[in-house]
Amino acid sequence: MKPVFANSAFVTAPERLFLRGGTWRRVPLKVRYGIFTHPEAGLVLVDTGYGPRVTRGPRSPSLRLYNTVLHPELVLEGQPGTVLRKLGFTPHDVGTVILTHFHADHVAGLDLFPKARIIAKAEVLGRILKQRAWKSLGHGIFTELLPADLASRTLDVDGISPREAPLGLGVGRDLFGDGSVLAIDLPGHAEGHFGLCFTDLPKPLLYAVDAQWCTDALGDERHPGFPANLIADDASALVESARRVLAFRQVGGAVLLCHDPAASPYDFAQETP
Ligand SMILES: [Zn+2]
Repeated sequence: MKPVFANSAFVTAPERLFLRGGTWRRVPLKVRYGIFTHPEAGLVLVDTGYGPRVTRGPRSPSLRLYNTVLHPELVLEGQPGTVLRKLGFTPHDVGTVILTHFHADHVAGLDLFPKARIIAKAEVLGRILKQRAWKSLGHGIFTELLPADLASRTLDVDGISPREAPLGLGVGRDLFGDGSVLAIDLPGHAEGHFGLCFTDLPKPLLYAVDAQWCTDALGDERHPGFPANLIADDASALVESARRVLAFRQVGGAVLLCHDPAASPYDFAQETP
């Protein structure tokens, strides 16, 4: 059940913004999302990446502004519909979408999966849906990207049984009841942000999502600090989460981050026709 991670878009930013001591060179960051199959749950997606709902068509002024500032360049061959087709599936085959948090670059493709069950932090979702739009803009959250029935399709990750993760990572939530995929709380980046530990690979993999934007920044001395701290939900929790991810890596775990510009053995080979 090796997961693959496709790239939905590039967002270009100076290296300095995501790595302390980095250069001013502008680096294309990826916006990954994951795909795997589970013997019982079937086809599962981990977030959805960026999609056209962010970049064109009718949108609120705040979402237009967000798009203008971040300017994601969609990768057409990396969009979920295309990637799923290349893997022999259609969007209708996706039974479950795990949402690691509710930022636009993780939920923008949800409308492709109107029947999928969602696994997410139900309490955080409830709070977001009650918030006024202006409060969410600063957090990169847009309720217009969330399907109207999202809450009713959501299974609360915090209600799932806990289980010890490998390599001292701590306790996670056993998403499918067989220990194969554990949700690991990694607070700091966004409210309720969590990663996923795939335990039954030759080397356990922690998909640490947005715990940092590149692996080098996981070390204490390489956290980008200002201005990245400004957009963090909780800067000190972010430092702790990065330490937890790095410790897992140092004892032999594999780590993948959503935006890391470096290639990963888990990347879906998009150039393959
Ligand atoms: Zn995020």
